[in-house]
Amino acid sequence: MKKSTGLKLAGFFLLAVSITLIVLGTAVFPEADTGFPNFAIFAPGFMLIPICFFLIVTGFMPQITKLNANLRKETLDHAGKDLGEAASQTVDVLAPSITKTVGAVKKGMGPQEQIYCKYCGTTIDADSRFCKYCSREQ
Ligand SMILES: [Zn+2]
Repeated sequence: MKKSTGLKLAGFFLLAVSITLIVLGTAVFPEADTGFPNFAIFAPGFMLIPICFFLIVTGFMPQITKLNANLRKETLDHAGKDLGEAASQTVDVLAPSITKTVGAVKKGMGPQEQIYCKYCGTTIDADSRFCKYCSREQ
């Protein structure tokens, strides 16, 4: 027998016991003088209920877990398209700025365009205002 089946059986058995105790305590053996439920029978039955629920819920855990997984799958099936769209939109928004950033980095790191100094003929960066050798303005 599976552990979960045992837990279910124990849970339902205890539930039957607790219901029997509650019915016996209230309907069959009430206090003779007051008519109140017989506390000695009623109370243990009442206190068994949380234990029954714990055992039954634990016993049904495989089914609950399976249901949970199915619900999650259904959620993903249902929202998957939207999630995919959201992801592709994010890429659409991010891609140009990433391209720009990468381009800027490439430009910064790549070889600079070179020109010759008008005065001494040394190669200098195309965008420099002064020659780094003769210091004259270009
Ligand atoms: Zn120069």
